[in-house]
Amino acid sequence: MVQKSKHIVIVGGGTSGAVLAARLSEDAHLAVTLLEAGPDQNSYDTMILEPQRAPEIWQHGTHSVVTPMLTQSTPIGALQGRLLGGTSAINGLATLRGLPQDYNHWAAAGLEGWGWEDVVDTFIAAERDADFPASPIHGNSGPLPVRRWRRDEISRAQLAFYDGMLETGNKRVDDINDPSQLPGVGVFPVTIDQDARRVSTSLAYLTPKVRRRENLVVRTGAEVANIAIEGARATGLRLTTGEEIDADEVVVCAGALWTPWLLMRSGIGPGTHLGEHGIRVHADLPVGETMSDHLGTGIPFVHEGERGGIAGPAQVLLVGASNGTDPDYHCFPIAMSSSPGPTLFMMAALLMRSSGRGSVKLGDEVDAEPVVTAPPLPEDGFARLQHAFARLAQWVRSGPANALGCHPAEPFDFTAANAVAQAYERLPISYYHMVGTCPMGTVLDANCRVHGIKGLRVADASVMPTIPSGNTYLGCVMVAERISRKIKGE
Ligand SMILES: Cc1cc2nc3c(=O)[nH]c(=O)nc-3n(C[C@H](O)[C@H](O)[C@H](O)COP(=O)(O)OP(=O)(O)OC[C@H]3O[C@@H](n4cnc5c(N)ncnc54)[C@H](O)[C@@H]3O)c2cc1C
Repeated sequence: MVQKSKHIVIVGGGTSGAVLAARLSEDAHLAVTLLEAGPDQNSYDTMILEPQRAPEIWQHGTHSVVTPMLTQSTPIGALQGRLLGGTSAINGLATLRGLPQDYNHWAAAGLEGWGWEDVVDTFIAAERDADFPASPIHGNSGPLPVRRWRRDEISRAQLAFYDGMLETGNKRVDDINDPSQLPGVGVFPVTIDQDARRVSTSLAYLTPKVRRRENLVVRTGAEVANIAIEGARATGLRLTTGEEIDADEVVVCAGALWTPWLLMRSGIGPGTHLGEHGIRVHADLPVGETMSDHLGTGIPFVHEGERGGIAGPAQVLLVGASNGTDPDYHCFPIAMSSSPGPTLFMMAALLMRSSGRGSVKLGDEVDAEPVVTAPPLPEDGFARLQHAFARLAQWVRSGPANALGCHPAEPFDFTAANAVAQAYERLPISYYHMVGTCPMGTVLDANCRVHGIKGLRVADASVMPTIPSGNTYLGCVMVAERISRKIKGE
């Protein structure tokens, strides 16, 4: 038996927490306890494993928590997975990284070790890409099996989108994860196995072999109520059952909405806000004040006949650039049903930039769910979405769209002068990429340690100082991989 030097307790066995637990327990000198509020992997029934059924999970709120997110118009239900694997077990499986400039911007802001050259190595190490050989941008030996949907797996609407966008002059991109090929139209890389079944981070990293490690304890159904802080040091935590657990270090991976909630309940957050709730302030920090998200509009569309294909909700996309060169929006049809009959899909246009001025606050009652406010759109948001709408207007008139016979479920004219404003008023959507609620810089240092509190870190979507221009799940894996290396190196 190896003498343990440190007991690390991870709060949240989601996308990032599962990765962190697996990586940290590679070091036999560390004792690692992973606490997850939701159920274990054995609750992964076919609804979770079959990607095309993801909309059912979203609509029925299965294995997830839905928190209202206030917008400038209609509220959006913000989803977060609540089970081992977290949101990676219920998401759209898209496996993108963002762009080099996103991370170079982090490094330029003084966050050493987070520039593109640093993070791209981590992205490569995490993946096992089945479509591309090992190269300076792809890896073949990581835990995450990545491939692109095959044409025979893609639904009829998404094939019509792909073919129609090419017909209307957009460039074909063979590898959306190669920044040099963007902007253009391509197929989403997704984290699935060869049988097209979802592989969450818990399935990829917390394998039976890893879970047999004597220095790793995985507890599910274990919800943390607050972190214990004594004399500016985290000493452990308390579960909602009242059980207390000691720790040398606590790493919070509860996701962009619940991590700030937990920190604030534990006395780490904006002093005035905590004071209003009668919470003793251990560290006065801008927790929850800088939330980013990718927001936009979703126009419901319908076509007659079968959906076709077995692929998940995100299959093909246009990575658009409103200035012609710098990718700044995504457009794609989101499959909304897997049942027979007239097929519904949602035509999404989403900005890949955020004002970062959204927030997560405590409710009137400390135990109530967080109060979440979406960031207002960036000032040029409508103009950028207008560019996307122009592309969609061309697509609607394309041969493949006409052959499919699809049309907006209610009349909608993408070329109308007020089309964007009207759509954002009535049909706002979130990509559910909430990040930046405990960012490196103001709340955390570049090693993700909470300023002013020893023995406490955050390692999930919350830590991102600005939102990357890609889907965020792989970014969370990258954060956990990098933090595990930092902890093991200490
Ligand atoms: C519907 C939907 C679709 C999406 N599609 C995509 C996509 O296709 N591609 C992509 O890249 N991104 C997608 N995203 C976003 C992406 O999945 C998330 O950004 C990412 O998974 C978040 O990871 P995380 O580790 O920060 O949090 P999570 O994965 O949410 O993990 C947090 C974990 O903490 C647990 N927890 C919370 N509070 C406590 C507590 N008090 N005690 C113990 N445990 C607790 C939760 O149960 C959960 O398991 C999607 C998100 C949603 C909601």
